[in-house]
Amino acid sequence: MKTNTKYIFVTGGVISGVGKGIMAASIGAILKAKGLKVSMQKCDPYFNVDAGLLNPREHGECFVTRDGAETDLDLGHYERFLDEEMTGDSIWTSGKLYKKLIDDERAGKFGGKSVQLVPHVTGLVQQTFLDNAKHFGSDVHIVEIGGTIGDLEGPHFVEAIREFGTKVGRENCLYVHVCYVPWLSTSQEFKTKPAQNSLRDLRELGIIPDMVVARMDVDRVIKAPQIAKKLATFCAVSEDAVVLMPDAKSVYEVPLNAVKGGVLAPLERFIDHGDPDMSQWEELMRNIESNSGKEVKIGLVAKYIDNTDTYLSVTEALKAAAWKVGAKLNTIWIDAEKATEEDFANVDGIVVPGGFGVRGVEGKIAAGKYCLEHNKPYLGLCLGLQTAVIAAARRGGVENANSEEFDAPTGANVVYIMEGQKGKESTGGTMRLGDCPAVLIKGSKTAKLYGTEKVVERHRHRYEVNQKFLKEIEKGGLVVSGVSPDGKLVEFVEAPNCDFFIATQAHPEFKSRPYRAHPLFEGLLSAASKK
Ligand code: GLN
Repeated sequence: MKTNTKYIFVTGGVISGVGKGIMAASIGAILKAKGLKVSMQKCDPYFNVDAGLLNPREHGECFVTRDGAETDLDLGHYERFLDEEMTGDSIWTSGKLYKKLIDDERAGKFGGKSVQLVPHVTGLVQQTFLDNAKHFGSDVHIVEIGGTIGDLEGPHFVEAIREFGTKVGRENCLYVHVCYVPWLSTSQEFKTKPAQNSLRDLRELGIIPDMVVARMDVDRVIKAPQIAKKLATFCAVSEDAVVLMPDAKSVYEVPLNAVKGGVLAPLERFIDHGDPDMSQWEELMRNIESNSGKEVKIGLVAKYIDNTDTYLSVTEALKAAAWKVGAKLNTIWIDAEKATEEDFANVDGIVVPGGFGVRGVEGKIAAGKYCLEHNKPYLGLCLGLQTAVIAAARRGGVENANSEEFDAPTGANVVYIMEGQKGKESTGGTMRLGDCPAVLIKGSKTAKLYGTEKVVERHRHRYEVNQKFLKEIEKGGLVVSGVSPDGKLVEFVEAPNCDFFIATQAHPEFKSRPYRAHPLFEGLLSAASKK
């Protein structure tokens, strides 16, 4: 097999949640800063075909790609670190792999052969690497393997990456193992045994890594040289291939810390392409650290307030906007089920994010009403547009206004199900998904913020504004400020009488970048900081 692309495989060890995805994305950012074309992919062992039907409280946010795939939040990290838009094929779950294989088997594509883990599952996994590298025209393609080495669910991915090295040439593959090195406070030392064991497990699977990233929960760098030496001795890697990564102040510091921690030596042995220009990350960290501006309290009226990963892209978009306008962001979680006027009064601005189902909806409607009546900055995202429209319609005289999602048809469904969506309510991959264009109304505040009248944002919804009620909605304080190009769908609304009250049927949070705030979030933060 010949390849012009180099591949980096990132596995994890000891425990999950050590920041393997952030590390993989940071390596990507460093290589991009060297001027290389970098793409990324995730292989996830779970059997769900995608993340669309997963409970966000357990699994975190469902990240939507531009081509409309409902994916894992890791792809959001990849986009924010690489500033490259992922696709649905940037993630392969076991469920998606097996589904494709079984569909192919049923379609008679295997010519009578038995379909097996090796070579068929592993071969398909490898094909996804090649296809992605080709699609993105990558110099380097980075693949993160979900879970930890030793998990019962992951070996097909590990075998696929091992064998891939023999197929494309070991010199074209770099294996990175990210593992956790705990600090034992009783004896005041780091313990490398769990990492050693995990590296042994990896070697048993045929992979000797080229780089070991040791994640450490405390910054006791004095002890660090010994740790690197010890891991190198016991784990068959050279000492300069052990990168020590203590906790970072912000995830966006990780690319810089990785360089400081010594990631360049093993990377440059693998691919030599000059020094990385890290100025973008240095500038971002300077902005983050020098942020001495006024505190701005943003209330996030949400259903899941115990797992902040559920709204990860929203909170990242808020941070980026705060860094841009020089405000000190204080995100206040407001439980949508218990929200009171006092909660709304207490903050400088409000975000109502996306959501599904009736729980907490009245609190979100109340937030919209409060903001309309008190000129409080408001940003509504998807469901946050629908609840704002319900609030306005009620104010405009449609007393029992509601959404068909929460109330059986009452004749007052100011938000109703979109054409072709009925009956699909709990199925996967069937919503209006991904990039959709919108045309903004000339002269609207929305158009002014975007600085253009044609925008493209990502979507994930089944319901839409019922335009029959536009008069009442307008009477209640909201006008349409953007529509789909055919005029059939309301994409944006705004309140002419408020300094900042904009809601969108889309999810603009997915297109925010830490170093390039999204105009709507920037608008919210800048209005809130004036309050
Ligand atoms: N539940 C609403 C719909 O399906 C909003 C979806 C969302 O906020 N992503 O239209």
